[in-house]
Amino acid sequence: MPTKYKARPQIPTENFSNSRWRAKREVIMKRDDWRCQSLGEHAGDLNVHHRNYTTSEPWNELDENLICLCEKHHQAEHDQLGSAAQDVAEALKHSNWMVKHRKLLARCIDEKIFSPEELLAFVEKRLDVGS
Ligand SMILES: [Zn+2]
Ligand SMILES: [Zn+2]
Repeated sequence: MPTKYKARPQIPTENFSNSRWRAKREVIMKRDDWRCQSLGEHAGDLNVHHRNYTTSEPWNELDENLICLCEKHHQAEHDQLGSAAQDVAEALKHSNWMVKHRKLLARCIDEKIFSPEELLAFVEKRLDVGS
């Protein structure tokens, strides 16, 4: 059984600075009553965090994949990502083939079909053949 992990492909920062994303953010913040959805002491500004990516256009993400977190809990969520999963995310960012198949890969990661190590080996193989 693969160990528990989560990985999220990175999305170019310019995708987060447009008005469609700002509108989406507001929808999610309203839904979550402008509160961090994590438990415990909160700190910092309210963020909208991606629990999973199904599209490289954040404003088109499914609402269920987005959640309001304060800065502290947002950071904690990202700190939980294993280094192998981070490597996978990094590899995804640099591969066109992976961009095309991001949805499928995100599902593989989410449903823990592959371990991060297996996925990373797979990504590297694809990068080698350059397709
Ligand atoms: Zn919080
Ligand atoms: Zn996040």
